[in-house]
Amino acid sequence: MVSTQRMQRARQAASSLDLSATIRARQPPLRSWSKRPDTIVNNGHTIQLDFAEGDTLDLGDRRYALKQFHFHHPSEHLIEGKRFAMEVHFVHAGTDGLAVVGVVMVCRQAERDVQKDCLDKPRELGSPVSADLAIHPRGLLPAQRTYYHYAGSLTTPPCSETVDWIVLSQPIEVDEDDIASFAKLYPMNARPVQNRDRRFILSSGPH
Ligand SMILES: [Zn+2]
Repeated sequence: MVSTQRMQRARQAASSLDLSATIRARQPPLRSWSKRPDTIVNNGHTIQLDFAEGDTLDLGDRRYALKQFHFHHPSEHLIEGKRFAMEVHFVHAGTDGLAVVGVVMVCRQAERDVQKDCLDKPRELGSPVSADLAIHPRGLLPAQRTYYHYAGSLTTPPCSETVDWIVLSQPIEVDEDDIASFAKLYPMNARPVQNRDRRFILSSGPH
């Protein structure tokens, strides 16, 4: 049984959101990652790449370790009211909760890139297999790393409200074929946009 107070809190910290009317604030630069994922799996909800021991992310005095990244179609976050083709989430775990870095993805018709290896081969449901050596999470960050920062939740059950969200304000580009391949597996695995209530969304300036 969930108390009214808890439900109230749940509504006030839900993700995802439309990231608009943000407040410009000085925020620390976002570092990229140096380690590659170890395994890849189609887990029935998404395609996920896991790290046995991932890089760390520091937010204030809290330290988080990168555990996995996975994909949504279409994007879960909107930026200034606009939804994107896809979104990748880098899930970091700390002692008190999670920190998730989100990057929205747009369609392009150009050279193949790292995400090709995550998205183009529809995989059978099942156990994790070794990740392709070509996959590096660095390839899934835009060149300009300005970002939005807000307090939210997981977007999949149990939707726990203990997540520090960092969503990059610039999209990365993905091949149309790769989006189509992922969409064939998962036509819709994005949570609807939630009420923002009284939360502030901070946006960082150029670094
Ligand atoms: Zn996600």
